[in-house]
Amino acid sequence: MEQQKPNQQEPPKRDNYYMPLLGGLLIVLLINGLLMPGLRGKQIVTTDYGTFVEKVDSGLVTGVVIEGDNIFFTEKNGERETTFQTGSMDDPELVDRLLQAKSPNEDGHIRFLRTVPRENSPLLDFLLWWVLPGLLFYAIWRQTSKSLQARMGGGSFLSPGNSGAKIYADSSIKTTFADVAGQDEAKDALREIVDFLHKPDKYARIGATLPKGALLVGPPGTGKTLIARAVAGEAKVPFFAISGSEFVQMFVGMGAAKVRDLFKQAGDKAPCIIFIDEIDAIGKKRDTAMGNDEREQTLNQLLTEMDGFDGRKGVVILAATNRPESLDKALLRPGRFDRRIQMELPDLEGRKAILNVHLKTVQHEQVDVDLVARATAGSSGAELANIVNEAALRAVRAGRDRVTTADLEESVETVIAGAQKKGKVLSEEERKIVSYHETGHALVAALQTHSAPVHKITIVPRTSGALGYTMQVDSGEQALLSREDLFNRIATLTGGRAAEEAICHTVTTGASNDIEQATRLARAMVTRYGMSAKYDMMGLETVNNAYLGGDTSLACSADTAADIDREVLQLIQEAHAKARELITTHADIMHEAAGFLLEKETITGDEFMAIVNKHLHPGN
Ligand code: ADP
Ligand code: MG
Ligand code: ZN
Repeated sequence: MEQQKPNQQEPPKRDNYYMPLLGGLLIVLLINGLLMPGLRGKQIVTTDYGTFVEKVDSGLVTGVVIEGDNIFFTEKNGERETTFQTGSMDDPELVDRLLQAKSPNEDGHIRFLRTVPRENSPLLDFLLWWVLPGLLFYAIWRQTSKSLQARMGGGSFLSPGNSGAKIYADSSIKTTFADVAGQDEAKDALREIVDFLHKPDKYARIGATLPKGALLVGPPGTGKTLIARAVAGEAKVPFFAISGSEFVQMFVGMGAAKVRDLFKQAGDKAPCIIFIDEIDAIGKKRDTAMGNDEREQTLNQLLTEMDGFDGRKGVVILAATNRPESLDKALLRPGRFDRRIQMELPDLEGRKAILNVHLKTVQHEQVDVDLVARATAGSSGAELANIVNEAALRAVRAGRDRVTTADLEESVETVIAGAQKKGKVLSEEERKIVSYHETGHALVAALQTHSAPVHKITIVPRTSGALGYTMQVDSGEQALLSREDLFNRIATLTGGRAAEEAICHTVTTGASNDIEQATRLARAMVTRYGMSAKYDMMGLETVNNAYLGGDTSLACSADTAADIDREVLQLIQEAHAKARELITTHADIMHEAAGFLLEKETITGDEFMAIVNKHLHPGN
């Protein structure tokens, strides 16, 4: 169990939309401050109008300021100055009185003035009451919607027209077809699209429209994403790359908006390429009982947009999936993704080419690419890339500056069976059983002409749990497997257990993986390959997703299902008996080879075959 990481939450983000808010308040206060009357800071005594008139008449007042409804006046009594305030009255004689009154001022007159009440200007009013709050609200809304957006993983919130589809400029994609090894058929099909994007006129002149969309189909790791990028790199046109899952949003309708937006942007930039990776995220069949409104709307929008496009304009839509059977039929009809480009697992030549492409980027000695390619039947391009990288890491660990064939071989084993488990200590008895078990597999394989020769046997425990294993390497690649081939494979798989029984007189848990594989093979022979006498060419199972593990579901009655089990059992029993027979008759080989293995931990195919041949043909 992995140790639980301490809950590393982001530090709470500062709510920075309070900043404009505070700023706004500050501005209001400042403006108010400016508008306040000038007579501030002095001690002001409030008094009545009568007192004011009296004081004016008494000749002690120096100045009077009438401001709106207030009258401020200052009295000078000796050196003491006092300012008073009183309310103004409708007093027409006030001016006369002020003019006639005496005052301690030098000229003997009272200074008096009326200030014009400063009305806020209409413009300022407008700014203050309408524009400023408006700006504040806008700022707050922007902040909220932005943080909401971030929380919902991109996409537009309330604001239409920016969906965040990544735009790759021409220069940013350096991938070319040269980076994609093998896959020649796919490249040919895509080269036509590249040509079309370069010279649309050539096609328009003759009236040809190119397929609007091409669907890249194949198991994971076969280079679908890689080749799509290579198309963009070759065509040197804008490349809109988006993953199907990015369309699926929290709210119904947002994915559809994103599709609309994507196609609008692409239309403006034509000629260009739209690439939708993992399109099955939105393109699933719409027939499930429990519909998904958001996904369906998004798919509908995609269908509509694809129809609305003028094929001559130069927008090409590429999509990739490893679940083509789950796609909605409407997506696949002509005018949409009508071209289907198959990306298969690489064959021997393909694997060599892929290894060479990836070896170019690492320093290496002269390596036996052919050997590695033969040892990796069924591996995808991604796995091969991984093997080369593991080999480079191993070389670094060993303090070398070049990758060797041994590095590659070891990393093949690491990828297939896991890393060596150094600390694991087996008892002598266990080591002996493992040795015989593995030798059993190898001997049965070697004695059946149709099985691949043994490449290597080891009894070094691996992190995957394997205590040892036998590596078989196909010399060539077979497109067709006969019933005999498959039967021999099952016999080879039972060889380990057969050796335990025949020589060690025991049975162990070490055979569990063999059992699984043998059963799967035998089952396929009966239900899918029509290789049992009883069921002839009747299909009893269908494969659900060919590219992802290949789950199967039964397509027959329960009675037949029970009978299939009997047929499978019979096949396995026959193979097991054959293996046991081979091992008992060649017990001498078993003892010698297992002894060698027990001592050296690893035996190569050549060493093993030498022992076998020495016993089979003693004369040589
Ligand atoms: P997919 O999209 O089909 O699952 P990718 O295109 O993501 O697979 O491939 C993953 C990686 O595997 C690539 O980045 C590349 O390094 C390697 N790879 C796969 N196929 C090839 C190939 N034909 N030639 C070279 N490298 C390949
Ligand atoms: Mg991919
Ligand atoms: Zn085994």
